[in-house]
Amino acid sequence: MEHRKLVIIGSGAAGWTAAIYAARAGLKPLVIAGMQRGGQMLIAGEVENFPGFEDAVDGPDLMARMEAQALRVGAEATDDIVVDLDVAARPFKIAGEFDSWTADAVIIATGATARWLGVPGEEDYQGSGVSACATCDGFFFKDQKVAVVGGGNTAAEEALYLSNICTEVHLIHRRNDMRAERILQDRIARTKNIHFHGERTVKEIHGRMPRNEGITHLELVSTVDGSTESLEVDGVFVAIGHDPATKPFVGKIDLDSNGYIATREGGVATSVPGVFAAGDVADPRYRQAVTAAGFGCMAALEVQHWLRDAV
Ligand code: NAP
Repeated sequence: MEHRKLVIIGSGAAGWTAAIYAARAGLKPLVIAGMQRGGQMLIAGEVENFPGFEDAVDGPDLMARMEAQALRVGAEATDDIVVDLDVAARPFKIAGEFDSWTADAVIIATGATARWLGVPGEEDYQGSGVSACATCDGFFFKDQKVAVVGGGNTAAEEALYLSNICTEVHLIHRRNDMRAERILQDRIARTKNIHFHGERTVKEIHGRMPRNEGITHLELVSTVDGSTESLEVDGVFVAIGHDPATKPFVGKIDLDSNGYIATREGGVATSVPGVFAAGDVADPRYRQAVTAAGFGCMAALEVQHWLRDAV
């Protein structure tokens, strides 16, 4: 079993940034990259909010650049999926589907994936009308009509954010009661261009051909009597929750009530000394490429301190 000072699990913005910092500190990190390198940015389309790119940068292109930068400064990467992390004793043991490693320190940067509705049209128009991130894509719908699906805090915050950019925001929720905090619900009620459509779900997302021309309308269905209606919108934001990729860590590292890795005081330390978390896997709040990169940097710096003091 190969031994490493540092193994980084995950190849999104957090993982590659941690790798850049750790490699430049001489730790020769190994990135276990999953089966597809790049994380959520692979479905991001154009990215206009990552600093340093005057013109929009393509999501996959941005990740390819981060990877190339990490490899150039001395990180190594392997395509494998981690299935188990044994933290009972040091060095930690990391089991992949194909290979196994031991490591003095581990950074978990496995991310979180947006939940999708699974309705016709949703996958077809991802990146050209269908999104799971208003902060990322809202600006593309400036002065247009959009819908937000969901009734939680994320849906509420996305609707409020979009109400400043778009002419109309249609909030579609399968029940009449939102689970979002009361303060957000009150703000929504006071915002004139947010229209609440309770007791409805999206049956299908319709759009133009070719698909990069965007969407035209949603077909909504009533959860009460099954009747359908059409809602014209230029974009739809699906905000029905995220699933952090924490399956191999359940029972080993403390998770919060939503399954995200619990970190100490907003930082990157986990309940296990020597195991750090970075990016969306530990961050239900910001979920941005730039914050993930920031957490990756923090985790790599903490690893350096920890290896110096504890190993
Ligand atoms: P969430 O609280 O789990 O809410 C998901 C919403 O989507 C629910 O309203 C749910 O409906 C709906 N939904 C789920 N599956 C659906 C489906 N297949 N079709 C239609 N609707 C569906 O998720 P979240 O809003 O992303 O929040 C996740 C966690 O992060 C929460 O603990 C939240 O408080 C926290 N958060 C906090 C903040 C903040 O503090 N400002 C901001 C964002 C998120 P039902 O209500 O009917 O189940």
